[in-house]
Amino acid sequence: MKVGILAYQGSFEEHALQTKLAIDKLHLNADVVPVKKPSELNVVDGIILPGGESTTIGIMAQKLGVLDMLKDKISSGLPVLGTCAGAIMLAKEVSDAKVGKKSQPLIGLMDTTIIRNYYGRQRESFETTLDFSTIGGSTAKVVFIRAPAITKTWGKAKELLSLGDNKVMVQEDNMLATTFHPELSSTTIVHEYFLSIIKK
Ligand code: GLN
Repeated sequence: MKVGILAYQGSFEEHALQTKLAIDKLHLNADVVPVKKPSELNVVDGIILPGGESTTIGIMAQKLGVLDMLKDKISSGLPVLGTCAGAIMLAKEVSDAKVGKKSQPLIGLMDTTIIRNYYGRQRESFETTLDFSTIGGSTAKVVFIRAPAITKTWGKAKELLSLGDNKVMVQEDNMLATTFHPELSSTTIVHEYFLSIIKK
C-alpha cells in the first residue's frame, strides 16, 4: 500500500510522520510518498491533501498537471483525506469569510459548503477537545489554524464530527475532510480511519 501526500506547501511533513505512526500502530505494510508530479500520483492507493494555503496548493497542482488528474482519480474512487486547506480543495461550494466568493483552482467533488477563514482574526488559531468515538477513538485535543468551517452538507456527504453549528469532519464515500489539523494532534485516529478506507 502506498499513501501519497500532496507536497507543495503546508503541513505535508507532519502528515507524513502522522501517517507513519498510524501505519505502525495498525501493523500495516505501507509506504508514505510525497506527490508533486503526475507520475507520483499515478502509483498511490490514497492521497492526503494537507493544510496550508488552498490557493497556493491549487495553483501549484494546476501548473504541474496534477489538479485534473486528482479530480479524475478521486471521482473514480481514489481515497482522499483533505485537512483544512485540503478540505477547501475538496468542497463543491467555497467562499471566504472576508471577501466572499473568489475563484481559485479546486477539486470540487464533495457535497459540502465551506467558508474559508471562518473563525476570524481573534481566534485564527485555537485548540479544542473533540470526541472521536464515532470513528473508534476517544477524546483528544486538536488544533484549528485559520480554519474554514463546513456549514452545509448534502447528498452523500455525512457529518462525522461537529463543533458548535458546524461540521468539522465529513465523509462522502472515498472522501474524508477535516477542518482541523489531525497531523498536529497527539491522536492518530483520523489517519488510522483513513488507512482503513484505503484498505477496503
Ligand atoms: N486559511 C487557509 C486557506 O484558506 C487554510 C488554513 C489551513 O489550512 N490551516 O486555505
